[in-house]
Amino acid sequence: MAKAIPDFKDKLSRIEGAGRLTACYQCSACVAECPAAQQCGDFNPRLIVLAALLGVGELLVEKDSVIWQCTTCYKCYERCPQGTHPIEVITACKNLAAAIGNAPEEITALHDTVAGNATLIMPSTAIEKRRGDLGLGPVPAPAEDLERLLE
Ligand code: SF4
Ligand code: SF4
Repeated sequence: MAKAIPDFKDKLSRIEGAGRLTACYQCSACVAECPAAQQCGDFNPRLIVLAALLGVGELLVEKDSVIWQCTTCYKCYERCPQGTHPIEVITACKNLAAAIGNAPEEITALHDTVAGNATLIMPSTAIEKRRGDLGLGPVPAPAEDLERLLE
């Protein structure tokens, strides 16, 4: 059984753009049009917010946490009448999970690709040739701003 982390709610609330976690009154408006909740029986943005409020953070930031099923569609952001915005709570949880090395391997790989190459899609020989034909140089190295953003 997952253990509660006493300061989890405060820790989450301190993350920039984490949403108004404590304003949630559990109305379920965020669940109504959530595509992840419709497709995955164990995903429910209202319960994720409740778990964060109760400090059951261990459950949210563990490896294979349910939070990674969120499609980032922002429907819950539009629906939430309280400004809690589950997507923002979920994103903050993802950042916490990534910080302790608990992000899924494919997410970590995407992060490393963007951090190392400033792109999600590595240029193929055909792309390099096309860039050359258009008078463009090689794909640029990551900008300092991007490196700082990913730290
Ligand atoms: S996060 Fe917003 S929409 Fe979802 S249950 Fe809480 S108050 Fe309602
Ligand atoms: S952003 Fe995530 S939690 Fe919110 S409605 Fe979309 S899939 Fe559901």
